[in-house]
Amino acid sequence: MSSILGVTLVGMEALPVEIEVGIVSGLFSISIVGMPGKAVRESKDRVSAALREIGVTLKGKVAVNLAPADIPKEGALLDLPIALGMMSAYGLLGEIPKSICIGELGLDGRLKRVRGVVPAAFLARKLDLPLFVPRENSGEVALVKGVKAYGVDSLAELVQIFLGEIQPEPIESITAQDLPAAIETDFADIKGQATAKRAAEIAAAGHHNLLLVGSPGSGKTMIAKAIAGILPPLTDEELIETLLVRSTVGIPVNPGRERPFRPVHFSASTVSVCGGGSNLHPGEVSLAHRGVLFLDEFTEFHRDVTESLRAPLEDGYIVVSRAAGTVKYPSRVLLVLAANPCPCGNLGDPVLKCTCSPYAIERYKRKLSGPILDRIDLQINVPRLTAEELLNFQDSSESSAVIRERVIKARKIQEDRWAEYKLVCNAELPEKLVKKCLILSEDTRKFLADMAGKLNLSGRGLSRVLKVSRTIADLAGEENILTQHVAEALMYRQGITAF
Ligand SMILES: [Zn+2]
Repeated sequence: MSSILGVTLVGMEALPVEIEVGIVSGLFSISIVGMPGKAVRESKDRVSAALREIGVTLKGKVAVNLAPADIPKEGALLDLPIALGMMSAYGLLGEIPKSICIGELGLDGRLKRVRGVVPAAFLARKLDLPLFVPRENSGEVALVKGVKAYGVDSLAELVQIFLGEIQPEPIESITAQDLPAAIETDFADIKGQATAKRAAEIAAAGHHNLLLVGSPGSGKTMIAKAIAGILPPLTDEELIETLLVRSTVGIPVNPGRERPFRPVHFSASTVSVCGGGSNLHPGEVSLAHRGVLFLDEFTEFHRDVTESLRAPLEDGYIVVSRAAGTVKYPSRVLLVLAANPCPCGNLGDPVLKCTCSPYAIERYKRKLSGPILDRIDLQINVPRLTAEELLNFQDSSESSAVIRERVIKARKIQEDRWAEYKLVCNAELPEKLVKKCLILSEDTRKFLADMAGKLNLSGRGLSRVLKVSRTIADLAGEENILTQHVAEALMYRQGITAF
């Protein structure tokens, strides 16, 4: 019996799969049992070709059993352990140390990158087994500390390693560099829009959701993109969380600590946004975990999609169901929404005239309200700039690098404050902690109560205002939330009702 282990993914977790191979005499054939998925069934051809390529004579009726039998096996990452299991059954490998091997085989025997190596690395570490992965996946594995892993180019190379002909080089573990995020869209290049920039800074500092309402061409998309450049670097734990999700779908990772920025088009389906599908994958809301999920032209999104975002926005995770059970993906995103003020886009514009009927505007406004909007902390107008503002070359806006420094400082204050609750930012604060920890002075409390009545704020709205006030105070380096912080936070709740 060979001692080759592969893995299969259940959500973001890798489970060990034992490859058992039995061969009886007869014409050459391979059968795979143990709930193999489509990609696993197709591995017969790839495995046969790769084995022939390295000179293995294929003979007999080969039965491959993937154990345990009750878990469905997905993906081509079982190619490598199946090939090794067959070689072992043919008596070509001798005694080999127990290990986990994953990789998709090319017809020429080369190993191709696969998804799921980060969960596999966690499993290998837990079981204290060596892990062999395609060399192209080495970068991801290197970010998981304390795992004995090796990157290999081909089946032939791994066979040589097992036969003791060559000594494998372990993948050296690396620490993610705290490099400043690549700033592709700089706030310094965005003219005017002081309020929007301030709101973006607050959103980045406390990880608060943001809605930008403005005419086409007012720069909403640029502002959303610029937010990516002022976010604080991922912490160690956040980095692992994002690595796990990305590895599950096979998105290459870089060794930096940049937060994800995922723009979603309004034609996107619920499955692509929230996850699921026949081969169960995380959606954009999980790929954007700990980063930005950007929904441009928000009012054009299908109602099913926006409705299905409610739970993941509230809970910070999403439960995706399929026939065999459910899996949980993280979804703690900074949601940025952008929308026009009316169907024609000119409502409130100082120069261009709105051509929409009052009925059309009413209908449109309804799309801009409702349950998702209740979960948006900062709501602001982004007016189109006048010709004079556009031609103001004296406009010396702050650069993203400078803003980012303030954001990092404010985030550090939050990390220290919430460490005992294992939270990292103000937006994450659950309801019971809002009441317990965000205490206002008597005057400030009275001011907020007055305004909440006038603005008809819901309970949820009220605690969102409190969390934003806390972030504004943190940006100012203030220990206490003052009336001015609450007043500014309230301004971002009433912004879009003003047009
Ligand atoms: Zn209009």
